Amino acid sequence: MKRIALLTSGGDCPGLNPCIRSVVRTALANGIEIIGIHRGWRGLIDNEMEHMDARSVAGIVNLGGTVLRSSRCPEFREPEAREKAASNLLERGIEGLVVIGGDGSLNGASKLARQTNLPLIGIPKTIDNDVGGTDYALGFDTAVNTAVEAIDKIRDTATSHERLFLVEVMGRNRGFLALQVALACGAEGVLLPEVPTDITALCAQLERCREAGKVSSIVVVAEGDDAGNAYEIAQKISDQSDYDPRVSVLGYIQRGGAPSAADRVQGGLFGKTAVDALLSGESSKLVASRNGQVTLVELEVAWKETRELPEDLLELARILAS
Ligand code: ADP
Repeated sequence: MKRIALLTSGGDCPGLNPCIRSVVRTALANGIEIIGIHRGWRGLIDNEMEHMDARSVAGIVNLGGTVLRSSRCPEFREPEAREKAASNLLERGIEGLVVIGGDGSLNGASKLARQTNLPLIGIPKTIDNDVGGTDYALGFDTAVNTAVEAIDKIRDTATSHERLFLVEVMGRNRGFLALQVALACGAEGVLLPEVPTDITALCAQLERCREAGKVSSIVVVAEGDDAGNAYEIAQKISDQSDYDPRVSVLGYIQRGGAPSAADRVQGGLFGKTAVDALLSGESSKLVASRNGQVTLVELEVAWKETRELPEDLLELARILAS
């Protein structure tokens, strides 16, 4: 294998740049030429590519986002678009592809690999941490830390004014981010898409906390909760109790910012593992973290397998919220 390419696709997150840097430098260390594809699948279809060298990735280990840019490309769901993508790779003599993406991008990657027999390795990224087959996706640790830092600040106001705050965090329809954040900031409650929300039980739980002497309450709400968004839930709480909750939706700040040390190191390990896998003849594999070890699993697992919320963390959240 003499020449490989790399792209980032789907929603951006911290950790992409350290991973890009690792893919580029591992390829170069093995005497392989590396091509960066801009703007994900869109750029592959439009033939937007650049030759990368060690300096292309200088000074990016501490940067959020992706220097290769990213995009969403509905067209890539069509076989004709993937055919065009494959012929662009072929024309450039690209013999292997590394795709850093979430479950959607990795689904597209599986289809491309199946359609063309192109050796392809996926690397999981998403602050939602919901990619199948791996305990960890790049960006999650940084997003947790960003949300915790924000909620620590909100706690100051909640305590000073003896208030209840509902803080909505991202995660789409999964609660990994909300659960981790709730544990780390000592929330009095957490509402998760995977657990049916009972507003009456939540009000009773908050009341118990108040009677136990707590002056402020924070409830972390996952954006995909079945009881609605944080504003709708606040309304339901005030309809059923004497609380007058305040709402804060953290939004896009969770997807940006400098990657945490953990995301930098994990990005480095994931990137090197992907290039090593291509060089040893692997194809259609996902780089995964399992039980603390970086390994390879079948690429299709990324979008076929549904990860369960860790039971022990759910129990911990219940115990510590009292
Ligand atoms: P993420 O990769 O972060 O999960 P998306 O779900 O938005 O983000 O997917 C990113 C891109 O991956 C889409 O815009 C599309 O180009 C491609 N993609 C997503 N799902 C599929 C699919 N089922 N088949 C082919 N391509 C897909």
